[in-house]
Amino acid sequence: MERTTLAPYANEPFTDFTQPENREAMEAALRKVKGELGRDYPLWIGADKVMTDGKTESLNPGDIGQVVGRVSKATKELAEKALEAALAAFETWKRVPAETRAGYLFRAASLMRERKHEFSAMMVFEAGKNWAEADADTAEAIDFLEFYGREMIRLSEANEHRPLTPVAGERNRIAYIPLGVGVVIPPWNFPLAICAGMTSAAVVSGNTVLLKPASVTPVIAHKFVELMEEAGLPPGVINFVPGSGSEIGDYLVAHPKTRFISFTGSKEVGLRINELAAKTAEGQIWIKRVIAEMGGKDGIVVDETADLEAAAQAIVVSAFGYQGQKCSAGSRAFIVESVYDEVVERVRELTAAWAVGLPELNFKSGPVAERNAYEKILQYIEIGKGEGRLIAGGGKADVEPNGYYIEPTVFADVDGKARIMQEEIFGPVLAIGKARDYREAVALYNDTEFGLTGSFFSRDEDRIAYALEEMHCGNLYINRKCTGALVGAHPFGGFNMSGTDSKAGGYDYLLLFTQAKATSRKL
Ligand code: NAP
Ligand code: MG
Repeated sequence: MERTTLAPYANEPFTDFTQPENREAMEAALRKVKGELGRDYPLWIGADKVMTDGKTESLNPGDIGQVVGRVSKATKELAEKALEAALAAFETWKRVPAETRAGYLFRAASLMRERKHEFSAMMVFEAGKNWAEADADTAEAIDFLEFYGREMIRLSEANEHRPLTPVAGERNRIAYIPLGVGVVIPPWNFPLAICAGMTSAAVVSGNTVLLKPASVTPVIAHKFVELMEEAGLPPGVINFVPGSGSEIGDYLVAHPKTRFISFTGSKEVGLRINELAAKTAEGQIWIKRVIAEMGGKDGIVVDETADLEAAAQAIVVSAFGYQGQKCSAGSRAFIVESVYDEVVERVRELTAAWAVGLPELNFKSGPVAERNAYEKILQYIEIGKGEGRLIAGGGKADVEPNGYYIEPTVFADVDGKARIMQEEIFGPVLAIGKARDYREAVALYNDTEFGLTGSFFSRDEDRIAYALEEMHCGNLYINRKCTGALVGAHPFGGFNMSGTDSKAGGYDYLLLFTQAKATSRKL
C-alpha cells in the first residue's frame, strides 16, 4: 500500500443488527457458512497443505451433534518440519521492508471487512457467540491488522520521530529488527481477534511463526490463515500447526530454535510455558522471550454515590456477556452496604431476564465452549451454593438443541476469600460481596492474585482519584463495564498472575516482537 493513501487508524464500527439490511446480511452469511460445515482442513507447512489421519473434531457447542470441521493434527515430526519451514522463510522475510510487510496486513483487513459476516458466522457456530459478540470479535481482528500495520511503519521510522541524541562526528541510528521464529498460541475465546492479533503482530515485525490454534476453535483459525494467503503473504511466514497443546505445544516451546513464544490463555498453561522456555536446550544460543497473557478475576466496585442503575447494568453485562468467557469478565462485584440490597436486587432482575439459547438465533447468551469447561463451571456452581446465597440461575439451562448451556448464575453475600471469589471460573457465574465503605470494597477488589480489568462506579471525584491510584489492574475503567477493550484506545494486558502486561493493541506491543539494534558511524 502506498504511504500517501494510509488513513489515520480508527476502530472498525460494530454492526447495528436492528437494521433489517444488516440482519439479512448476517442471516445470509449464517446460511452460507452452515452449508460449509463439516469439512476437513489441512495443516500448513511452508507451501504444503498436509491432510493427516489424526484430526481434531470441532463441534458447535450450542448443538453438539453438528460438526463444524475436522482439522488435521500435527505430530512432532510435522511440527519439526513446520519449524524448519519457518526458519527458512525467516531468511527472506526478515529482509522484506516494513512497509511491504504492513501492506499484507492492510490487504487482509480490507478482505476481512468485505466478508465480515462470514467470519462472524463461523464464530457463531464454532465458539457459541451471539451475533454482536461475533461481530465485535471480527471488528477487533480488523482493528489489530490495521493498527499493527501502522505501528510497524511507525517503528521503522523511529529515527525520524525520536532521533537519538546528536553527537558531533557520529551518525547514530536505531533499528527494530525481528527476533526469529516464534510459536503463537492463542485461546479459543476470541478465536479470530486474538489469533489474528498475536499472529499479525509477530509477522509484521519480521518474524515467521508456527501458529498453534486452540483445539476448540481451529476452523476459524484456518479461515484466518487462508485470508493471509489470499492477501499474498508468502508461504512459510505463517505455518499452521493445530494439535494438542500438551503434545506439540511442549515440543515447540522447548525447541532450541524457537526464539519466542506468544501465548494467551490460562494461568496454569502460561506458567508452564514460562518454566519450560526458561530451560536452555542443547544448541540454543538465546534467552527465549515469553509473552504470556493469562487469566483474570475481574471485578466491579460500586459506592453509594454511584448511578446504581448504570452500575447494575454494567455488572450484569460484564459478568454474562459471552457467557462470562472473557478474560475481562466481571466475575466479582463489591457493593457498599448502604446500597447493597438495592443493587443486588436489580442485578437479580436483570439476570433473570437474560435469555439463553442457540447462538444462531441470537439469544443474549449461548452455550459455554466445550464439555470440560461445562463440567468445571457446574462444579463451581455447586461450590458456590456452599459459599454464598444463590439469587439467580444455579445450574444447567434447559435449552434445545443439546449443547453446553448454563444459566447465568449469581451468588450474593460471598466472602472475599471464598473459592468463587478467588478462582477463575470462566463461565456465567457472578459472586457479589458486601463492603462497609468504598475503601473496603477496593481492598476486597485487590485481594486476588490476578490483575486484569476492573471498574469503579462513583460520582465522587476524590473517590475516583483514590480508585485510579489504588485499584491494581492493567485495565481500569470508571463508571463503565470492565469488558470491551478497543484496539488503540484501551491497550490491553494485566498485572500479577494475569500475565506479562503486553498491552496488546497499544504502542508498546510490537517492541515485544523486535530487538533494537543501535548503530553508530564515525563521520
Ligand atoms: P488454555 O487452556 O490455557 O489454552 C490456551 C492455548 O494454549 C490453547 O491453544 C491450548 O491448546 C494451548 N496449550 C495447552 N497446553 C499447552 C502446553 N502445555 N504448551 C503449549 N500450549 C498449550 O486457555 P483457554 O481455555 O483456551 O482460554 C481461556 C483462558 O485464557 C482463560 O484463563 C482466560 O482468562 C485467558 N485469556 C486471557 C486473555 C488476556 O489477554 N489476558 C485473553 C483471552 C483469554 P489446546 O486448545 O490444544 O489445549
Ligand atoms: Mg482450555
